[in-house]
Amino acid sequence: MSVSSETPPGPLTETNQWIDSHYRGDMEDPSITTIPGAARSSELFDQVVNLCKRRGFVFPSAEIYGGIRSTYDYGPLGTLMLRNVKDAWWRAMVQERDDVVALDAAILTNPKVWEASGHLATFTDPLVDCRNCKERWRQDQIGDTCPNCGSKDLTDARPFNLMFKTFVGPIEDDSNVAYLRPETAQGMFVNFANVMGSMRLKPPFGIAQQGRSFRNEITPGNFVFRTREFEQMELEFFVPPKDAPKWHEYWCNERLNWYRRFGISESLLRLRVHEKEELSHYSAGTSDVEFAFPWGWGELEGIANRTDFDLKAHAAHSGEKLEYFDQATGERYVPYVIEPAAGATRTMMAFLISAYDEDEVGGEKRTVLRLHPHLAPYQVAVLPLSKKETLTPLTKEVLGILKTSFMCEYDDTQSIGRRYRRQDEIGTPLCVTVDFDSLEDGAVTVRDRDTTEQQRIAISDLVGEIAGYLAQPFSDPRTSRN
Ligand code: ATP
Repeated sequence: MSVSSETPPGPLTETNQWIDSHYRGDMEDPSITTIPGAARSSELFDQVVNLCKRRGFVFPSAEIYGGIRSTYDYGPLGTLMLRNVKDAWWRAMVQERDDVVALDAAILTNPKVWEASGHLATFTDPLVDCRNCKERWRQDQIGDTCPNCGSKDLTDARPFNLMFKTFVGPIEDDSNVAYLRPETAQGMFVNFANVMGSMRLKPPFGIAQQGRSFRNEITPGNFVFRTREFEQMELEFFVPPKDAPKWHEYWCNERLNWYRRFGISESLLRLRVHEKEELSHYSAGTSDVEFAFPWGWGELEGIANRTDFDLKAHAAHSGEKLEYFDQATGERYVPYVIEPAAGATRTMMAFLISAYDEDEVGGEKRTVLRLHPHLAPYQVAVLPLSKKETLTPLTKEVLGILKTSFMCEYDDTQSIGRRYRRQDEIGTPLCVTVDFDSLEDGAVTVRDRDTTEQQRIAISDLVGEIAGYLAQPFSDPRTSRN
């Protein structure tokens, strides 16, 4: 099969300028530890960011107005992929379990929630202004020197609350203040009694939730790694206090395995246990799942033993009893909470970086996203071999059969080689090609993204064959190559 090359639209310098102005942001994020001797370069970062824009994964928000710093819109492919990342989490955390239930709490809620949780008092970063160049920084990131102009003439640090404040109703006074939630977790704590009662649950059980969170980050950056608006995937798992250490260990393993299962290689993942001094005020132990980003290790997910801090705090502030009581045995306790808290948008970026690969097919270089088939924006591309009208009806018929089961893209532009390459670049695991023989034998060619091998399959068997392929565990060919 001949495969021809594709050139990205626009001159490279233009693309690089675009990356610099829109994506790089602040590369000096203190939560990132550099990986000594890491082979993964900033070139990889540029390639992934470039691909995201070029192929419709992520765009700067409102780009026609010059964007707004570190805010992004998810394009057609990014929307599909982000949804797949969240679905993969949801399947593992809710659907495949019998001890976790779902919740979708409001983003704007009673501000007393944030008083009880401690967010009003303690969800702050120390902020300083440079008197010379007027730039604003997080003091814990810069020490005593402005990174922009080198001046040491900085204001005293003042706490800056990361919650976005707004007003509910037409009157902008203190009694109408509300906050955009900075995490989804509190929605689960305040609904603890409602959920446990309505679902007749007994610890150990969990409440899972996904959704937007908002933090007025002082130094957002590194593409979608740190943004002011992002998506979280959080589980609050309520357990008898004595069992908390055991469940903490259990969830650390489960979550690490989830990233492996969806294709991130062992060498790019690690679990980092927080030192005592680093622990949040509510935590008896936290471990982060970290990913080797091109600039260093960065957190994908924090798994904390939050003790009974949250339920006790909300019980004290609300006056409601938030505890488990077993009428039969008289047993009564405030459960401890194990919280695996992941970022969906940040995790999607990790999957993209980890999947990015370049290899050679038929002597030509190609870019290929080796995404887990469940995470790829499209599972199947349906392609007529040529634009000849005789092929269109059968190709559309095949599309009609497949699209009720799988996310498909139909493409009849350019040469077949170019279309395969286009699909490789966006990670589509299977291409189904309808050719002139198909009109005679009722079969199509199915091409595998990773091996580029092609198989002839009867149209009547396609749905079953593809479903069987998608049900298999994923193995990245780069792992077996090493
Ligand atoms: P970080 O140390 O990176 O600021 P955090 O410890 O404050 O993160 P958590 O409050 O534990 O983060 O939130 C859980 C997850 O939500 C994080 O592991 C991350 O994946 C995601 N997350 C947090 N803040 C952001 C952000 N500003 N942009 C994108 N994702 C975020």
